[in-house]
Amino acid sequence: MGKFRVRFAPSPTGPLHIGGVRTALFNYLLAKKNNGQFILRIEDTDQKRFVPGSIEYIQEALEWAGIVPDEGFGYGGDYGPYKQSERKDLYEQCVEQLLEEGKAYYAFDTPEELEAMRQQFQQEGKTFQYDASTRSLMKNSLTLSENEVTKLLEQGQPYVIRFKIPENRTVKMQDLIRGEVEVNTNTLDDKVLVKSDGLPTYHLANVVDDHLMEITHVIRGEEWLPSLALHHLLYEAFGWQPPKFAHLPLILKPTGKGKLSKRDGIKGGFPVFPLEWTDPQTDEKLEGFREEGYLPEAFINMLALLGWNPGTDREIFTMNELIKAFDLSGVNKSGARFDPEKAKWFQQQHLQLKSEEELLELVLPVIRKQLGFHTDGKAIRDYTLKVLKLVKERLVFPADFWTWASFFYQAPEEYNPKVLKKHKKPQTKEILEKVVKFLQGIEDWKAPFIKEQLSGFIEENQFSFGKVLQPLRIALTGDLKGPDLFEMMELIGKDETLKRIEKALKVWFEE
Ligand code: GLU
Repeated sequence: MGKFRVRFAPSPTGPLHIGGVRTALFNYLLAKKNNGQFILRIEDTDQKRFVPGSIEYIQEALEWAGIVPDEGFGYGGDYGPYKQSERKDLYEQCVEQLLEEGKAYYAFDTPEELEAMRQQFQQEGKTFQYDASTRSLMKNSLTLSENEVTKLLEQGQPYVIRFKIPENRTVKMQDLIRGEVEVNTNTLDDKVLVKSDGLPTYHLANVVDDHLMEITHVIRGEEWLPSLALHHLLYEAFGWQPPKFAHLPLILKPTGKGKLSKRDGIKGGFPVFPLEWTDPQTDEKLEGFREEGYLPEAFINMLALLGWNPGTDREIFTMNELIKAFDLSGVNKSGARFDPEKAKWFQQQHLQLKSEEELLELVLPVIRKQLGFHTDGKAIRDYTLKVLKLVKERLVFPADFWTWASFFYQAPEEYNPKVLKKHKKPQTKEILEKVVKFLQGIEDWKAPFIKEQLSGFIEENQFSFGKVLQPLRIALTGDLKGPDLFEMMELIGKDETLKRIEKALKVWFEE
């Protein structure tokens, strides 16, 4: 097998949307599957759109998700620098070659001149495009004499360098997902390769870097498909072999209509970014999957299935299983609908796959946050492991632990008024008083024994089970939900059990 090198090439213009993370993930999976390299390249040629903090965000998000680059910005490697703003010389050399060979040209048209041309075309009911049919009307090194060009350059006249798109040719290209793609060059414009600030545009830098970094497969979002023909022509102009291309389908809104946007997340109350992000300018805060409590395993599993079909009914995969199973032939052409409920389902499935010891590490911080005390001691760890056995099944997020288990750590502060109303009967008082006395006499405080004893007591007194056990549960937990009552009584202990019933008697019947 030949070498396999792929890259993720984000622009640092803000936080990374989950669509970007999915692109990184698919690149990573293929790299790992093919014993190749996954490279992180920062495409920051558009300095105006640079947002501070976004490079760090991208790196942190990838690492959190387990999509760790083998090489690239912040990771080293033999093909650096991996940030485009540090590669200006390389682009200059390459564009020089195109100029010499007449495949690119200087264009001196001012913004006003270009606008005037646009207007003129509009008046004639046409759309202006800088291309083979119009370049002869413009102020460029194809229409000016060599002397005039030299003079303008010496005078320091602002200029851009444009790519001379060949006239009326059909470019045939292969996309690994979409098959053959054909474009007639007359539909393309003479794209700017170097801007008036001397920096390359995305197209030039991207092609030069993919070549110099020996990228074998370019896997990127569908929004770049319209640039494919231009990129092919650039490879051809340089005399370079193009890499293989694959354009991934869009991630769509939960309704299936249109591209998933940051606004959809804000409106729907679900994250569309891997990590939380606060906009440095507006202070707007965007939710992150990590902060919502998602496990990275669940997050990448959910992402992998957005647009990829394993060809079976199987939905749950670990990263290693994804690496084995993933293949571009399973990637769909059409957009993939993001479903926030399905995201939760993946989370639940992966959380349930965790051992109690692993879950312990996730819930200890939750307990610490709620109670503000140290959770490093052996006693609380052992105790929490036992609690986890009882409540694990109910958890989707680590924070849910508190909903289902707070009463293992503290007496209820309130009683659910709805259920209390139903059970706060004079008879309840009598029953609970008797229960307290009865429980005091139980020495062997173990769930099965308490259950057996209490059942005997209920039968002997001819009470109904519901009339005893439900108020008892409310007294202990504040509600009717919760794990097995007797297991819970064993865990919180005899003293605490009695204390809580006595407290309930007081609150319910004396105040
Ligand atoms: N910098 C481009 C982006 O932000 C990369 C596109 C590509 O992968 O070629 O998406």
